[in-house]
Amino acid sequence: MDSMLSVNETETGFLSDCKKNSIIFYGAGNYAVENLERLELDGLTPVCFADSDVNKHNTKLGRYDIFPLDIAMQKFPDYVLILTLYRSSLFTVTQYLLKRGIPKERIRYVEPVEYRLECDHLCFAMFDNEFAFCCFSDLSKHHSSKGDFSTDILEWKRLYNELLTDKRNGKPTVCDGCPFLKWGIYPIEPWKIIRFVSSSNSICNFSCIYCFKEYINTNTGDVLIDNLFIQCKQLTDYYNDPELTVIIARGEPTISFKFDEAINLLSQKSKKISIATNAFIYSETISEVAKAGVNVELCVSNDAGTPETFTKIKGLDCYETVIKNLMLYAENGIHICLKYIILSGINDNEEDISGFTRLAKMLRATVVLSKNIVSGRKSDMTDSERFWLKKLAVKCKEHKVNYYISKTCVSDNDRNHLEKYIGEFYI
Ligand code: SF4
Repeated sequence: MDSMLSVNETETGFLSDCKKNSIIFYGAGNYAVENLERLELDGLTPVCFADSDVNKHNTKLGRYDIFPLDIAMQKFPDYVLILTLYRSSLFTVTQYLLKRGIPKERIRYVEPVEYRLECDHLCFAMFDNEFAFCCFSDLSKHHSSKGDFSTDILEWKRLYNELLTDKRNGKPTVCDGCPFLKWGIYPIEPWKIIRFVSSSNSICNFSCIYCFKEYINTNTGDVLIDNLFIQCKQLTDYYNDPELTVIIARGEPTISFKFDEAINLLSQKSKKISIATNAFIYSETISEVAKAGVNVELCVSNDAGTPETFTKIKGLDCYETVIKNLMLYAENGIHICLKYIILSGINDNEEDISGFTRLAKMLRATVVLSKNIVSGRKSDMTDSERFWLKKLAVKCKEHKVNYYISKTCVSDNDRNHLEKYIGEFYI
């Protein structure tokens, strides 16, 4: 273990210990927005927030001021920083704070954590007749479903406990060799499902040129796919956790017969619903549940800034329809992650990148920069791909559009290279 990171050894009593200090919540982003009320109910009352985003400085989150870290520390010298961040950022931010000279005993977390080898993708991932530890069909081993959610979940927990014990003891595991496996800060509680991924739908109404071959294209909307609904029903009947995030991925879920029913069910139980969609079909239900206060996020690979390029990539001439639907979603307060997969000779040009950035600004979307993973999930980009992704990132910066590099699809080499060029990637 890196000695600098020994702060991340298991800690207990981490909240009561720091209540006598001035608590600064570090991180005024989405996690803080979603969890502030719960943290206050748990008895954690900060004196202020600190955040690295200059756009947030001297604004408020709830009733609390947001300051740059230096100012917050000056105002409250007896501070402890509690990281109000998603789990996937805890390690990077802890390293950053330690490098800035913050003593390790002043850095705290909202739940007990430990330093171990794991990944950010671990979840209960449900496929048609199988479940797995992650939703990458080519990586984690799949286990046969018994068709009964409660039995599957018990089995998943058992297998996960085994996996974790093996990892802690340095024994071989199914994750060995996976590019996403890394040392980091993860919650101690090993079996809690906070993220359920439903990946049962393998039918789509588009035929994107970079798509996995297992997706079946159907240009009809009348195919009965009710696995999504069955899984959501079982999940909501069985599982009750206010922290639950549900991700609906793979294929195009909105063409499922019972999509609306599935979303309605989920909205009663989950804190956050993230849906990968192409936005060709507008779902009134998505907008309704968002208006009712559920945190809904749409992940849309748009990859183009002109109708011509869009049609070339998606195999369907419907750019205007998709844009109209996205505008409607944005007007209804739905957060949109707009992905740009750089494709040589297709969307690596000024016109598409400019059009795409304008769209992202209009939608107040977060841009996800990515590469085509058909050539290998973590293989390095070509110089040209890097060049155009840099251009896109610079344009986003100019237009004050939030953006980040896809952790799932971009190699560490490429991330390092791009970070050096355009700086900080974390929103
Ligand atoms: S380390 Fe890799 S294989 Fe293991 S759960 Fe994470 S993404 Fe899946």
